[in-house]
Amino acid sequence: MYRSISTHAIVIRRERSGEFHKSLALLTTDLGLINATAYGAFKMNSSLRMGSEPFTWSRVMLYHNPVRKSYKVTEMEILGSFEGLQRDLSRVAAASLWAEVVQKSYGAGEVSGGLFRLLLDSLQLLDAADSPREPYVTLQFLWRFLALAGYQPDTRQCDGCGREFAESETAFYAARSHALLCAACASGTGQPLPAGALRFLDATSTLPIDKAVEVSLGERSLHALCDSLPRMLQAVLEGQFSSLPWVEAGR
Ligand SMILES: [Zn+2]
Repeated sequence: MYRSISTHAIVIRRERSGEFHKSLALLTTDLGLINATAYGAFKMNSSLRMGSEPFTWSRVMLYHNPVRKSYKVTEMEILGSFEGLQRDLSRVAAASLWAEVVQKSYGAGEVSGGLFRLLLDSLQLLDAADSPREPYVTLQFLWRFLALAGYQPDTRQCDGCGREFAESETAFYAARSHALLCAACASGTGQPLPAGALRFLDATSTLPIDKAVEVSLGERSLHALCDSLPRMLQAVLEGQFSSLPWVEAGR
């Protein structure tokens, strides 16, 4: 028994299936992360050809076959294709990293649309950002993703001894426990996060994301966060991101 569903979707991954078909991972507002097939989408004259490309945002019509647990894309009305992003390799690398986070987390197991909103906002900001702001969009995406998934570490106090960090104190990120520690508890291990980086995370997380990406950091804190946040995601999702070296090479 087929069922027809209309939802908003962003293409997270696109692979060839057979000669002309595309196997898609779609992050949707109503169904979370799903796999769907766009039949014939590699054909030049297919109405699904453009909408089924990576990071494209569409209103899609899906047919669901509950017996085969499969989705088939029947219509795609493109709402945003982010051409500014597609022209620039470092931006494609950033968006690819976010896509990997979404995939490895199985869409964070949520269907409330919060992750969809975060990804869409981030893609729009990345599409429009000048190159010095690019890393800030990734930092905001990753930190907000950790909040959505319920894995944001405590930036106010040491997870080992419970002591509150002092105003200018450097904390250390321990991947094994996915926590921030004071120097004594970290005892020479972990990645240092300067006080400025911790205050930045706290201060920007309550801002709308378009305002948050305009807040700048000192060089040392920016580097520390660009280094630590992807590793926090790897620790939480228990895997390596294949697009991370690509993102780092672009800096
Ligand atoms: Zn401690």
